[in-house]
Amino acid sequence: MSSLSPHLPLKPGESATGFALRLGQFHTGKSDLQLLRHLGIDAMALLSGDQQAVAKLADIANVDLDRLQDGAIARFTRHREFRAERWSRSFVRPDGARYCPKCLLEDGCQAWDRFARISWRIRPVRLCAEHGVVLAACSERKWSDRPITFLNAAGLSDTLKSADMVEVGNYDKWILDRISGRASEQGDFLSSQTLEQGVRVCEMLGATLTYGLDVAATRLSEAELAETAAHGFDIARRGNEAVMDALSEIRALSQSTAGQAKFRAMYGNFYEWVRSAGGDTEPGPIRDLLRDHILKTTALGRGEKVLGHEIIERQMHSAYSLSLATGLHPKRLRKVLVRLGIASADCDDLDYNLLVFPVGDTEKLCQDILTAVPLSRLPDQIGCTRTQAESIYRGGLIRPISNPGDGIGRIDFARSEIDRFLKWIEDLPLIAVTGAVDLTRAAKMTSLSTAEILRRAQAGKLAVGRRTAEPGVNAILVPMTEIQEIQVDTRGPPTLA
Ligand SMILES: [Zn+2]
Repeated sequence: MSSLSPHLPLKPGESATGFALRLGQFHTGKSDLQLLRHLGIDAMALLSGDQQAVAKLADIANVDLDRLQDGAIARFTRHREFRAERWSRSFVRPDGARYCPKCLLEDGCQAWDRFARISWRIRPVRLCAEHGVVLAACSERKWSDRPITFLNAAGLSDTLKSADMVEVGNYDKWILDRISGRASEQGDFLSSQTLEQGVRVCEMLGATLTYGLDVAATRLSEAELAETAAHGFDIARRGNEAVMDALSEIRALSQSTAGQAKFRAMYGNFYEWVRSAGGDTEPGPIRDLLRDHILKTTALGRGEKVLGHEIIERQMHSAYSLSLATGLHPKRLRKVLVRLGIASADCDDLDYNLLVFPVGDTEKLCQDILTAVPLSRLPDQIGCTRTQAESIYRGGLIRPISNPGDGIGRIDFARSEIDRFLKWIEDLPLIAVTGAVDLTRAAKMTSLSTAEILRRAQAGKLAVGRRTAEPGVNAILVPMTEIQEIQVDTRGPPTLA
C-alpha cells in the first residue's frame, strides 16, 4: 500500500494511539478514527496496542516501526505488555487519562500538533519532568477504547493555572529513563527487574520505612506514595546489599517477640506483599532477597517453608531451637553462647527466639556440653587414678570443652574427646605383662609424669603397649627396655668416680 501524503512525522515519546488520532485530524480534520477504518486498520486492535495493527499503521504513515511500537502498550485480558515487559493492569492508565497542559500548549496551535506521550499512561508517572508540572487528570477517561481528546488552548491554559508544580527527583527521572529506553543509574538490583517490579519494591520499601509495618500503600495519596517511593529508590538503586540493610531496618521495627515462623509479625505488610504477589504481578528479585534475609535472621528447621521454598537444612538456630535440639537448660546455654561470642553478656532480656546465630559448630558444641563428663568422673571413664587423670588433663592429652575461668563453671570433657583418647589406647599393640610395667610404676622409675610418658608414646618416641583388658590407662604397659632407655637419658652417660 502506498504511504499517506503529506507525511506527518511521529514525535519523540509519542503514543501510538495518539499518533493514529493526529493522523486523522491532519488528513480528515476529524477527531475520530474513521481514517483508520478507511485504511483498513482495525481501530479497536490499534487502541489495544495490537502489534499487527501498529505495524500496519507504521507502514501506511511511513514512520519507523520500532519507534511507533515503543509508543504502544499491548492490552491483554489479564495483563499489559510494554517493550517485552509484562505489567499488571493497574500499572497502566487509560489513554489520555493524564497530560501536561504545558507540553500540549507548547506543541503547537493545531489539534494535530498536540501529541500524547506514552509516559503519561504509566501509573507512577505523576509529573512532567520537563516542566515540573503535576500531570492533569482527565476524570472521564476510564478505559482506552476511545480516541484521546484534549482540551483546546483556552482549556489547557486554565488547567495549567491550577496545576501544582513539584521538583523532579531521581526517582521520577529513573522511571522516565526506563520508559524511553535511556540508560540510567539504577544499579544491578533495579536493572534486573521490570519497571513495575522496581516501582513496587521502591514504594513498599519507602512506605514501610516511613509509615511502619502496618502501612497500606494503596491507601496513601499519590503524592505520599511518590515521596516514599523516592526514598525506597535511593535504597534500591544502591543494590542488593542496601536492600538487605533496609530489610534489617524493617525487621527492627517489629516489636514482636512471637514464635519463629511469624514472618508477617517481623516484616509487616512488606512480607505480606511479597508473599501474596504472584501471577501477573510477580514481585521480582525482592522475593529471593527477603527469603535470604529471613534465612539469615530466623531459626528455621528442616521441612519448614519460607516464601515457597522448603528448608532442606537448618542454617540458623535460635537459643530456643538449640535448647530444644540439645536439651541444654536455656540458662546454661546462654552462658555457652556468651562465651562463644554469639550472644552478648547483657542478652538476658532478649527473647529466646530472637537470639539467633548460624548453626555451624554450635550445635555440636552444645551436644558436647550436654553429654559432657566432669573432671571428677574422668578417672572412672578412662580407667586411672585421680592423680593420673589430673596429669592427663593438665598435660593436654584430653582437652576440656572450655577452660577454667571461661564462665561456664566446672571443667567438662566432651564424650567424643574421651572416646578419641580411649581409641588410641585400644589401638596399642597387645604385649606380654612379663618384662613390662604399668604407668604408675613407669612414672616412679623414670621420674616422669603420666602425661609426659603418654605424650612421648603418642609422639612415637616411646614404644608402649597394652595388656588384654578393657582399654584404659591402667591397661597401658611400658616395656622395661624402654624404661631403661629413659633412665639412661635422664641420668646421662655413666661417669668414672
Ligand atoms: Zn510538560
